Amino acid sequence: MNKKINKILVANRGEIAVRIIRTCKELGISTVAIYSEVDQNAYHVRMADECYSVGAAPVRESYLNQNKIIEIAMRSNVTAIHPGYGFLSENPGFVELVNNNDLIFIGPGADAIRLMGDKTAARELASSLGIPIVPGTTKPLSSVDEAIEVANKLTYPILLKASGGGGGKGMRIINSDAELASGMRASQSEAESAFNDNRIYIEKYIENPRHIEVQILADNYGNVIHLGERECSIQRRHQKIVEESPSPFINEPIREKLTQTAIRLVKHSGYTNAGTVEFIFDQEKNFYYLEMNTRLQVEHPVTEMRIGFDIVREQISIAEGKPLTITQKDILFRGHAIECRIYAEDPANNFYPSTGRIHSIKSPQGLGVREDCGVQDGDEITTYYDPIISKLIAWGNTRDEARLRMIAALQDYELFGVRNNIALCIWIMNHQVYSEGIIDTNFLHRYFKPEMIEKYPDEILSIAAITIHKTEKDFAIESSAKPRGNCRSTWKNNLTDYMR
Ligand code: ADP
Repeated sequence: MNKKINKILVANRGEIAVRIIRTCKELGISTVAIYSEVDQNAYHVRMADECYSVGAAPVRESYLNQNKIIEIAMRSNVTAIHPGYGFLSENPGFVELVNNNDLIFIGPGADAIRLMGDKTAARELASSLGIPIVPGTTKPLSSVDEAIEVANKLTYPILLKASGGGGGKGMRIINSDAELASGMRASQSEAESAFNDNRIYIEKYIENPRHIEVQILADNYGNVIHLGERECSIQRRHQKIVEESPSPFINEPIREKLTQTAIRLVKHSGYTNAGTVEFIFDQEKNFYYLEMNTRLQVEHPVTEMRIGFDIVREQISIAEGKPLTITQKDILFRGHAIECRIYAEDPANNFYPSTGRIHSIKSPQGLGVREDCGVQDGDEITTYYDPIISKLIAWGNTRDEARLRMIAALQDYELFGVRNNIALCIWIMNHQVYSEGIIDTNFLHRYFKPEMIEKYPDEILSIAAITIHKTEKDFAIESSAKPRGNCRSTWKNNLTDYMR
């Protein structure tokens, strides 16, 4: 089934589309971008060799429009489709559609996605292999009475979760019998509208857990390797903001057990390509299987930074039918990497998404700093898509070196036009509890208060954006006639601090 991939349609947008296109360029593979009405001039479109309109702004009419995407793939004569993350990346029906049109889907097969994407079926598989799962049901709930019985056996609090999908949709903490019936109704309707599937199940709510996951690569010849773990315990609303590798929580024997458990699950599920097995740890360092993400993860760069290896390149190679290009012992883990997700959202206002034009964005640079960014000056952040703007990754020989490098990079980062979480990321990185590595998923809930970061009115931010452009221009003229010192960084820091 070896087939050379020489042209790829990237069925995604934003930073992940840009990141995939970058690897394709390196490999000499031509790229096709798709864009919705509001993304006509987006960065990923400007990066690609060819681009095609895929429809109106709403995702159902554009980035989820399977037939249209296939039509563009056929018209542009691509060999393969890379789905990125989100959108159609975990949709087994789409994988079949791609394959039925004689195209390669860069990712796992439809059966593996179907199996691991059904959270209850995957829990059942893990449990049958003797892999610890979070206590709860392995079949979807059939009635409120059943839920009450299970919840009382587990003892409250419990968590209701959707069987058919993730992203926190349908997830609800329940503290008593009295909350259960209405909580189930709300979870079911949220799951129905998000995934067209109202099945929900119960897990015991683990208090103050840590989220630690294992990156996997698997080829079509039974070779499965791990690329180490990532800790993703800094979250808001059960969604990740900061990730790092390695986890400061686990030692070598636990790491070995964890990674081997992930490999065993992947081998038994018939999974191929890149994937992530997620686990949750309690404070006693017991771990439980949480779910498998059958795609490239947002946070894959922290792994790449540690091992100096391009996961997307390997995804393409596996999809071409080649065996893994590396073995487990070829992987050398070096130092520590931290990623901060830069979101267009307002941490001072309950993380409410922020929209508008990016007036000015200037990325930090330097040794050990990587940025995967999805926008450039003048681009628009709209309400239609995920508000992620960029991912900033810092590598260091030690965790503290990576952390301090991240603080310096965040302080250097200039982003004007939309509210964003840069100040929050700086706050996290500077927090003593974070610096000691004793984090859990309730870190932000426990320590963060909106008044801890400064908030300025929209008008001030807009004026500041204009001022910074003008001042920079003036300074460039003036500085040719004046001696250089550190005045540039001084005025800029003052202004930047003021605007954050
Ligand atoms: P999703 O696919 O919706 O993101 P996950 O199962 O991956 O759902 O869980 C997302 C996050 O929700 C976890 O990282 C963790 O913070 C929290 N979570 C999930 N299950 C539990 C649980 N049983 N107990 C405590 N927290 C949980």
